[in-house]
Amino acid sequence: MHQPNAEPRRSIYYDYQVFDAWLPSQHPTSQQAPVVIAGAGPIGLVTALALAQQGVRCVVLEAERQVSEGSRAIGFPRRSMEILQQVGVAQRVTDNGLPWRFGNSIYRGQRVFRMENPHDTDDRFFPLINLQQQFLEQYLVEACAEQPLVELRWGNKLLSFTQDGQGATLQVDTAEGPYTLRTDWLVAADGARSAVRGLMDLKLEGASYEGRFVIADIRVDLPLPTERLAFFDPDWNPGNTILMHREPHGIWRLDYQLPPGETPEDALRPESLKARIDAQLAMIGHAGVPWEMDWSSVYSARALTLPDYVHGRVLFVGDAAHLLPIFGVRGANTGFQDAQALAWRLALVARGVAPATLLRTYSTERVGAAREIIDEAGKSTRFMAPPTRGFRLLRDAVLSLSLSQPFVGPLYHWRTSRPHEYAASPLNAVDDDNTAFAAGLGHGAPPRNVRLGEDDHLLDHLDHRFTLLWATNTTIPADVLTVLNDAREKGLPLQVIALGASQPVPGADQALPDADGHLRERHGLSAGGAYLLRPDQHVCARWTALDGRRLRAALLNACGLTSGA
Ligand SMILES: Cc1cc2nc3c(=O)[nH]c(=O)nc-3n(C[C@H](O)[C@H](O)[C@H](O)COP(=O)(O)OP(=O)(O)OC[C@H]3O[C@@H](n4cnc5c(N)ncnc54)[C@H](O)[C@@H]3O)c2cc1C
Repeated sequence: MHQPNAEPRRSIYYDYQVFDAWLPSQHPTSQQAPVVIAGAGPIGLVTALALAQQGVRCVVLEAERQVSEGSRAIGFPRRSMEILQQVGVAQRVTDNGLPWRFGNSIYRGQRVFRMENPHDTDDRFFPLINLQQQFLEQYLVEACAEQPLVELRWGNKLLSFTQDGQGATLQVDTAEGPYTLRTDWLVAADGARSAVRGLMDLKLEGASYEGRFVIADIRVDLPLPTERLAFFDPDWNPGNTILMHREPHGIWRLDYQLPPGETPEDALRPESLKARIDAQLAMIGHAGVPWEMDWSSVYSARALTLPDYVHGRVLFVGDAAHLLPIFGVRGANTGFQDAQALAWRLALVARGVAPATLLRTYSTERVGAAREIIDEAGKSTRFMAPPTRGFRLLRDAVLSLSLSQPFVGPLYHWRTSRPHEYAASPLNAVDDDNTAFAAGLGHGAPPRNVRLGEDDHLLDHLDHRFTLLWATNTTIPADVLTVLNDAREKGLPLQVIALGASQPVPGADQALPDADGHLRERHGLSAGGAYLLRPDQHVCARWTALDGRRLRAALLNACGLTSGA
């Protein structure tokens, strides 16, 4: 019998709610679901909401009865906010988070590099926003409660499963003992220690790095702006790196590297934490300032991924699929892109609109993204925590040169999480005009937001459907209309937005005037040109002129209905 902790977790700024455990005796007819998601972390919850938007019912199994312990992921970049906007929680994050865009690298008391994340008037969201993961999970849980197609079962732990050609049969443990649940698809969103991954004996590939880091969240009043601070080789922790981030509710995160050989137990002893936090506060000129501990933990940097996220009827997302260094806010943020990339494909497959082979493209695209991140993250991890004498020499040379030579500043390799471009995806159209465009977004690119008015942006107009963005103000021609209607009849969610049209356009779902032509210019669109965006908003086709035949080909290809995909 599974009895998760019913005591609220301790926090000085967050009130944990303990949810009622879901008990099988109270739900005698709930033994089947089209999709079961194991794990109600941020990625399982986003997957559930995205599936529900696509009309697919899912059950989410969560072993615990409350949201996660400690602040964990605290930095959410713009692309994550755009994904969270799609599932309806971005506004709450904006209302409660701390936006920021500058990062400072400090060496020997001198700022040697100031990173500026680009931000222009077309963006709805800041480059980054800080908010503790518990709040984000809470907003997602509340959004799930509003969504009749999502059933969240607290206190339900996936114990084991078997799969066959049609689906999977799960054994789920509860406070009343185990029950059996049948599903067509099992999504493994059960985190870094994924039980599903373990049960299938799947191995992650990549690298684990030597360095260990302490994360400590303290409440302290520091008169500093919301900017990232990175201190290299400070006097009190020679050779190592310390990060500081401001969080909402007067909390600061300190993140420091441990000397080699120190155990996590030693590092987390109260006197050890106190000595180091005091030393860091003193170093930044705030010796003796009162502070209070909220949460501390030790982690090591790992850069690992499964080589395949699709195993028959089992699909992996988030930390269950990959473990990425948190420098550059990659953990949860990479997972949001997994969730968004999986949900539309799984929905099309679950509703019988697309073949199961479409899911293979989820794996190739997202494993490709993880590998790219692992490559980049490896560079920043090696800079933060040099693994060998050679890397340390190189890092120290960059640090020392940076005191007098500004040109080495950018060598502080620190790329924050950014969306992957699926430039080589088999879902990209084969006979469109991609290469004929002189500007705009190429195949596989994530969307580019554009301000349309005071509180109106292009991405506000995209939803869970395929979107045809068409620079036209005349009636949609009959051949294109036929293709659109056929696709919709077959169950493909699809909308048409006419750009540069001040009046409604017959056949289009929306018309955006784009009076100054800025939206079309940013997309490199002339009159008659068009983009096809997938439900995850990535570009899969673009044309300088569109006709029904080429639109049909692109839609079929994007749904894995041609041999190319
Ligand atoms: C100490 C720490 C600090 C971090 N800091 C950052 C950061 O600063 N920035 C960043 O981007 N990321 C950070 N991360 C990583 C980030 O928290 C994860 O990437 C993110 O939580 C992944 O989300 P997920 O939904 O995939 O997994 P999780 O959040 O781990 O959620 C998995 C869920 O599955 C549940 N579960 C597990 N097994 C079962 C089962 N058998 N049956 C049912 N449910 C199950 C768990 O209870 C959990 O709720 C940090 C992580 C840790 C541990």
